[in-house]
Amino acid sequence: MLALAKINPLPALGSLFYPAACVVCAGEVERPEYLCEVCHGRAPRITAPFCAKCSEPFSGAITQTFRCANCAHRVLHFDSAVAAYRSRGLVRQLVHDFKYARLRHLRHPLAQWLGETMSDPRLRGARFDLIVPVPLHPARERERGFNQATLLAELLARQIAVPLRDVLERIRYTTTQTAYNRAERMENLHDAFRLRKKANVRELRVLLIDDVLTTGSTLSECARVLREAGAISVHAATAARA
Ligand SMILES: [Zn+2]
Ligand SMILES: [Zn+2]
Repeated sequence: MLALAKINPLPALGSLFYPAACVVCAGEVERPEYLCEVCHGRAPRITAPFCAKCSEPFSGAITQTFRCANCAHRVLHFDSAVAAYRSRGLVRQLVHDFKYARLRHLRHPLAQWLGETMSDPRLRGARFDLIVPVPLHPARERERGFNQATLLAELLARQIAVPLRDVLERIRYTTTQTAYNRAERMENLHDAFRLRKKANVRELRVLLIDDVLTTGSTLSECARVLREAGAISVHAATAARA
């Protein structure tokens, strides 16, 4: 496990002042970066070849478009789910500290990784009418104090000038997904999400945001609700991918 730099007790305030420090090693960085070059270089980037649908990387030389074992034999309701980084090593540590140690300032480097998905060919040419964060159950959000997907989506919305709308709600308090296999996850998520009252996504192109894609089941369930409510397309982007 990586040791993160001791956190400034007032990170939001502290970040207003120079010199800027790398959020991992506290080394000096140039604004607007949050990671020094060395730490940035330790973030495992996803490189081709990867699955066109869910971005699962594949080792070996494949040049044609392919579907991976993670999604070849099931219906995923999003058009594509894009991540630029693997949730390993330093990336996994930052995501973990952001979510579970509640280090909110880590939203900045994570949102930069999320923002890098916008140069992926699957998203680069696409136009989006709205950005939608994957919702947490209200009880879970109260417990954590924030929805990590919303914090990241807010920064991306500003970066690409697309409005953010919290049109989904999570109506089932699901137990943690990590202990389940894929079939159990799907079952666990069934009817977990719905469109909020008065929300309208008809004829809209949606960009769905979450912190990490694990199997894609959560994003798929959200996409299904959005498509059933009339969204024309639902692409998904995450800061990292398992
Ligand atoms: Zn560093
Ligand atoms: Zn796939």
